[in-house]
Amino acid sequence: MKVLVIEDDKEIVDAISLAFQIRWPEAKVVSTRLGQKGVEMVESESPDIVILDLGLPDISGFEVLRQIRRFSTVPTIILTVRAEEADVVKGLEWGADDYITKPFRQLELLARVKSMIRRHTPAEESILTYGHLRLEPETAQLHIDEKEIALTVTENHILGHLMKNAGHVVTHSNLAEAVWGDDYPGATDSLKVHIRRLREKIETDPGKPRIILTKTGIGYFLAKPE
Ligand code: CA
Repeated sequence: MKVLVIEDDKEIVDAISLAFQIRWPEAKVVSTRLGQKGVEMVESESPDIVILDLGLPDISGFEVLRQIRRFSTVPTIILTVRAEEADVVKGLEWGADDYITKPFRQLELLARVKSMIRRHTPAEESILTYGHLRLEPETAQLHIDEKEIALTVTENHILGHLMKNAGHVVTHSNLAEAVWGDDYPGATDSLKVHIRRLREKIETDPGKPRIILTKTGIGYFLAKPE
């Protein structure tokens, strides 16, 4: 288990390293204060999870995220300051799986990391099919007819849960629990962002979705296969 921390605030890096040392000693923590170096380390170190600060000295955390997502679906948690609500949305849009606001508690961080790791390694989940959709939960690969689409961890979980519940509306709260392990404040808004990204990947016209449909104020459901 390897954690890559991309953060220029040494105090935060030390706090994260210490948290793992004490409560999760078998995890190895590697870090860098530079975004560009962080992107390289995703490739060279193959971390199991990335913790990414948005404000870095060389390139922004968003840029780091964009570059990482070109070649990797590694689960990524962004660190943001409480006041920056818009950054959270942007981070999720650019491919982050989850976020933690600074200052955070050790236990909160570890809980988020653990839930993310757990979600990333589904226990031999079998392939899901529904209409034209064929999802391999273990590799997060989605096939729509001849098209092959790589999903992020979170997109994989959202779509997997919708497919398992095909024919029913899945509520925001139920979906949040399936994806993050709990329905935290703001989960509905995060879901909205992830669903938007997912639609951009899989729908012919994301503005007029025909695969993932919205039940306004309640949740989401998959359209009946044609
Ligand atoms: Ca910073």
